[in-house]
Amino acid sequence: MILDSFIHYTKVDLMPGVPLYVYALKGNHFSILIDTGINQMREQIVGLCKEASPVKNVLITHAHADHIGCNSAVKNLTNAQFFAAGAINWIEDLEIHYKEFCIPSEHLPDSEEQRKEILGLMDGPVHVDAIINEGITFRPDDEIDLVTLELPGHKLEEVAFLERNSGTLFMGDVLLALAAPFFHGFQTARGFRKSLKRLENMINKNEIKRILAAHHPPLDQEGSLKSINDTKHFLDQVEDATLNVAKGIDFPALWKNVCTSLNKQFEFRGFAMLEVQVNELIEEGKLFKEGNKIFRK
Ligand SMILES: [Zn+2]
Repeated sequence: MILDSFIHYTKVDLMPGVPLYVYALKGNHFSILIDTGINQMREQIVGLCKEASPVKNVLITHAHADHIGCNSAVKNLTNAQFFAAGAINWIEDLEIHYKEFCIPSEHLPDSEEQRKEILGLMDGPVHVDAIINEGITFRPDDEIDLVTLELPGHKLEEVAFLERNSGTLFMGDVLLALAAPFFHGFQTARGFRKSLKRLENMINKNEIKRILAAHHPPLDQEGSLKSINDTKHFLDQVEDATLNVAKGIDFPALWKNVCTSLNKQFEFRGFAMLEVQVNELIEEGKLFKEGNKIFRK
């Protein structure tokens, strides 16, 4: 489907309130696919690649399963080069992906069901041809000037792509999917706040005119600012809830209490996010640890 001019897309609904959009930029010289969706949307992704043909580059915003799910199908169809900012082994080795993402342990038991759910989102590993970082530019057309922005937060190695002539920002999950029943979390809360501030400044300077995010419909400037605020509010809620429950409890109890207070599932994404949150709050002097008990200062 065509959004406008050079932008093609496809979309599925992952769960209530959480869509997944995948975009392609069709240029006169070649085309670019940004992320590859989930395995279950293979026909749509193949259709998108054919519509925008020839796809020569695939840019990965971050290495989560719902952004790399049709990598293998896209590689087989287009033989495109793959670019990613980091967590390369999550793209090249799905067993490592599973173990580092789902962190199976006594608190987060491994199960066939969970393996099927997470690994089932991805169709296979691909080789990443090059690592991209801030400022790397792609010009699939004389009129398309796409530059890479590093926006750590949700994932440490998260990048977005700004098409500078139209002011269109293509992004993964810097704007979170807050309707998910689990924590759609972060790997750095501090970094996340800086990334959101940066986006806000770029919108206010009119460098960003609209945002095409993976889990949101197309956002104009007003919608983008609102969504940035929603994500900031979420970061505040997680920090406040963490501080509120830190009354001399151990980490697993803290995790469960925060999940309960914010009405989210006891689940690996929240576990990993809250480990980061606790560590950052200890660094900032707002929490301290005695043995394995966590207290508020
Ligand atoms: Zn993600």
